[in-house]
Amino acid sequence: METNQCSNPVNSGFSAPSKVSRKTTPANTIVNVNGLLIGGSEIVVIAGPCAVESREQLFETARSVKTAGANMLRGGAFKPRSSPYSFQGLGEEGLKLLDQVRTETGLPIVTEVMDTRQVDLVASYTDILQVGSRNMQNFPLLKEAGMSGKPILLKRGMMSTIEEFLLAAEYILNQGNEQVILCERGIRTFETSTRNTLDLSAVPMLKRLTHLPVIVDPSHGTGLRWMVPPMAKAAIACGADGLIMEVHYNPETALCDGHQSLDLHEYNQLMTDLKKISLAIGREILSPLPSDIQS
Ligand code: PEP
Ligand code: MN
Repeated sequence: METNQCSNPVNSGFSAPSKVSRKTTPANTIVNVNGLLIGGSEIVVIAGPCAVESREQLFETARSVKTAGANMLRGGAFKPRSSPYSFQGLGEEGLKLLDQVRTETGLPIVTEVMDTRQVDLVASYTDILQVGSRNMQNFPLLKEAGMSGKPILLKRGMMSTIEEFLLAAEYILNQGNEQVILCERGIRTFETSTRNTLDLSAVPMLKRLTHLPVIVDPSHGTGLRWMVPPMAKAAIACGADGLIMEVHYNPETALCDGHQSLDLHEYNQLMTDLKKISLAIGREILSPLPSDIQS
C-alpha cells in the first residue's frame, strides 16, 4: 500500500490509506450495533459515566440518559489513568454491571479495552470496543481488537495527526473488520485553558477523506462541564455522525472526570437543544429506545 508521507492533507495531496479511503469506498460505511445504525443520516448519542463506579451510580445514570434520549451507554471498567494511584476501574466486576444494565435498559454498551490480553474478556461483555486516545497507536491492540469482530470506537490520539489516525483505523480494517467509528476527542496544543483543544475541523476533513462514521467527544475535548453543550452542538452542526459524552448522576462525587461530566439536568437540556440543531441541518437524533424500563 502506498502512503504519502506529507503531513498536511490540504496542501500535500495527502490521500487516506486505501481501505479507509473514500476514494476506494465512496459510500458511507454504516456501523450496525444491534440494529442501531451509526454513520447514516441519523445522529447517535452515547452517554454515561467516565467510569463504572457502583451499581447505583451506573443504573441511575443509565436510566436517566435513556429517558432523555441516549442511544447507547458508555462507561469504563478498565481505566487509563495518568496516575497509578487514581481509581483504575472495577475491571470485570464493572463489565458485569454493564452487562446487567444493558439487560435492564436495552442500551448497547461502549467500554474501553486497554490491553491485548483483555480483548476476549471485554468483547464478551460489550457491544462496541473502545480503543482510547492513549492506545491509538498500540498496533498489536488495534489488530487484536479488529479480530474480535466487534465494532470498534477508535479515539484520536491526543498527539496524532489525521493521517496517523486514519492509518490506525486502517490496521483494524486490515483485519477484515470495517465496523470502525472514528472519534475526535481533542488534541494537545499550547493552549492550557481547556484540557485539550477540540479539533472540530477534523470532522469535515475526516468526512471528506474517509467513508467511516465520525463522532465527537466534547467531554475529553474540553475538560469543562460548561463547555460541553456548546461544543456538542457545534460538532453536530459541522457534520459529526454522533457524540459520546460523560454524564454522571452526581458529578461532584465522581471518581473520575466529574469536572467534565454533565449532570442529569444539564444532559436533558442539551438533548432538547441537539434535536433542534439536528433538524436545522436536515438530520435527526436516532430514535430512542422505548422508554419503558423493565426490572
Ligand atoms: C474515555 O473515554 O474514558 C477516555 C479515557 O477517553 P480518551 O481515551 O479520549 O482520553
Ligand atoms: Mn473520562
